[in-house]
Amino acid sequence: MTAPCSGQRSSANKEDLLIMAVCTQCGKSLSHNEIGLFKRLVNRDSTEFLCLECLAKAFRVPEERLKEKIREYIRQGCTLFTEE
Ligand SMILES: [Zn+2]
Repeated sequence: MTAPCSGQRSSANKEDLLIMAVCTQCGKSLSHNEIGLFKRLVNRDSTEFLCLECLAKAFRVPEERLKEKIREYIRQGCTLFTEE
């Protein structure tokens, strides 16, 4: 999971729509980074996402591990993520 980020697109309109997405498991509204992480770890072209909590359960990893992952991607300058 250390592949370089390739999210160098500038499709602002599409991103705006995705920001309003909700978790398909629990219905929680998703942050930009939760969506970004799902794209990076699961499916880049997905239009359905999981929140951090549900993603952690699905992957059977601690939520904190996923947050570390997000910070890692931010450090790499991945455009799918924003500093919170
Ligand atoms: Zn959820």
